[in-house]
Amino acid sequence: MPDIKHNQAAFSLINESINKLHGIGEKSQAGFNRLKIYTIKDIIFSFPYRYEVLIPDVHNEKSVLAGTFINSGIVRTHRGKSIYKAVFKAHNGYFSCLWVNFNTNYPSSLLHTDSMYYMYGPVTKFENMPSIFHPEIINKEDIGKIRSIYTVPAGVTVAAYRKFLKEALDKGLKDISDTLPEYILDKYNFPNIKDAIKTLHYPETKENVESIVNRKHPAYVRFIYEELFYLQLVMQLKRKTYTKGIGIKFNIDKEYLEEINQIMPFKLTKGQKKVLLDIFNDMVKNKQMNRLIQGDVGSGKTIIAFISAAVAVHNGYQAVILAPTEVLAEQHYNNAEKFFSKLNINVCLLTGSVTKKNKEIIKDRLLQGEIDIIIGTHALIEEDVEFKKLGFIIADEQHRFGVHQRKILIDKGYNPDILLMTATPIPRTLAMTLYGDLDVSVIDELPPGRIPCITKAYKASQLTNAFDFVEKILNDKKKAYFIYPLIDESDKLELKAATQSYEEVKKYFSGKKVGLLHGKMKPDEKRQLLHDFKYSDMDILVSTTVVEVGVDVPEATVILIENAERFGLSQLHQLRGRVGRNDIQSYCLLVSSDKISEYGEKRIKAMLEYKDGFKLAEADLELRGQGDFFGTKQSGMPDLHFADIIKDIKIIQHVKNDVTEILEEDADLSMKKNNILYNRLKEMYKDSTSYFGIG
Ligand code: ADP
Ligand code: MG
Repeated sequence: MPDIKHNQAAFSLINESINKLHGIGEKSQAGFNRLKIYTIKDIIFSFPYRYEVLIPDVHNEKSVLAGTFINSGIVRTHRGKSIYKAVFKAHNGYFSCLWVNFNTNYPSSLLHTDSMYYMYGPVTKFENMPSIFHPEIINKEDIGKIRSIYTVPAGVTVAAYRKFLKEALDKGLKDISDTLPEYILDKYNFPNIKDAIKTLHYPETKENVESIVNRKHPAYVRFIYEELFYLQLVMQLKRKTYTKGIGIKFNIDKEYLEEINQIMPFKLTKGQKKVLLDIFNDMVKNKQMNRLIQGDVGSGKTIIAFISAAVAVHNGYQAVILAPTEVLAEQHYNNAEKFFSKLNINVCLLTGSVTKKNKEIIKDRLLQGEIDIIIGTHALIEEDVEFKKLGFIIADEQHRFGVHQRKILIDKGYNPDILLMTATPIPRTLAMTLYGDLDVSVIDELPPGRIPCITKAYKASQLTNAFDFVEKILNDKKKAYFIYPLIDESDKLELKAATQSYEEVKKYFSGKKVGLLHGKMKPDEKRQLLHDFKYSDMDILVSTTVVEVGVDVPEATVILIENAERFGLSQLHQLRGRVGRNDIQSYCLLVSSDKISEYGEKRIKAMLEYKDGFKLAEADLELRGQGDFFGTKQSGMPDLHFADIIKDIKIIQHVKNDVTEILEEDADLSMKKNNILYNRLKEMYKDSTSYFGIG
């Protein structure tokens, strides 16, 4: 026996092409398709972007003017344009309606002398009379009504669009099944999906319109919730499949920790201890660790990486430390050598600039297990590097590594534990939404004795003031960075800009030793220069943004950034993080062009106002708006039509708790009450659902 109900659903109109609606021909269909409206369901789910209330007799905004048609004629503007002008008598005087582009039949054929008309449009003044250009003729009953405004395809009139939508709703709404389970609807008093759809298309009352626009109406909140809910659900399901695999059960040996403690150059901060504890708790479990450490620049993430890598090695495994740039990899390596040699751990560096012969040697030693920890850049991933027993992976500044690259590395080991570290904090809401598949720990304090950096803003015309300021500070035997943006991607221009600035700086600071660092230098030269800056008497390092991430020169106390408006907030924050790495007052001087955009101005202001990377990240998100913030595909963020991850923090919290609870009870969504969720995921992600474990 065929399932009758099922068959009915299969015949449902909603998945049929939009051209099943009366009056949609090939041409309008193409227009609809260009708006990504293909099916009847699509038009049902294309909600208004705005609402209008058809209020009468208001000037200077969109309104209805009512009156009897008196006469019409063609007037000429002083620019020689012809305008068709119709005059109406209203209860309180006269008004006119105007058409700039008209033909002989329109609008004259519409208007009959002494008949009453209701004209709708933005009311302005023309020749001293209230006027509407290109009015819409409406019915008397429409006055006071609410109208939903849609993006309509080219060649489809607003009226026709409304008619199509109405037909779609009349025929299709009954077949739209809910996308949230009843227990969720009940929990939050959300309307069911049909009512919610109807309300958004036809809000009916002004109160409804207001609360929709304010994103408070339950019908609207329901869709916000739903969007965030499925995002969170997928994230948490993915994470379950990641970590479902058995991981290495490391042993945390107290005596060994004591041994490490003996060689520590400083005492860990409370924030560092807390994060280390999170890591150890993950390591001892026989599940794979997937943890992200967020810590502001200078919060001391490196030592956390070193200690946990040492513990992994002590358990008989090899570890990898990935850095985003060669400069950073080498810096890590220099620190690591000092640290690990005291623990009898073999560390090695593998970057793109290691000679072929040495690479072969290193690879061989890795395979033999003679190297315990390997530090390097992407080269590590792409090369055919093999391990004897890889058990622990650390990726510093992880946002530079794609998921794909991470996966390659993971596959080189035996379900190794993974520790990601980033100094580009992202807003908490975003972390909750985006990193549903990661555990997140935060180092929420800086090492003791750090004095907050003083940030000052200058205009380019005040550059010498900024230079003077630097000069005063440098007299106290300190070091300075001068940063210039990459003016152009091309080698020659970058070099020219940096070289030019270098000459300028050298001339101004004649008694000082100045070095120049730029991206086109050979790794060897870069290394030497950074080494000189750190350990010799070089006072000033003129540089492009190669120093951006992670470079650690404690004596550097001032950073001057030219064309600061060209940098993004997180980049500026990273750059500022290069100073203030000791207990001396540090300064960040932002020099921007004399004329900068409002947006540029706001970013500079945010830098003056906030020292904390998290606050800045939030400001950044607010300034850029989520669309732009997620602009890059790699963010992995789908388009959000309803949700706003700044404003909707409360809902995100609810969503996160709800999803956690649901999956705790029903990990593969096989319970009947979760049918809706299972089916919806299938619909949204088709065959890829097996990827997050619900096959
Ligand atoms: P980031 O988190 O930006 O990677 P680093 O790990 O480079 O920070 O640490 C910044 C500086 O602070 C380094 O010079 C490091 O030696 C120092 N440091 C880290 N932790 C502490 C601590 N607990 N006490 C004192 N100095 C510390
Ligand atoms: Mg670092």
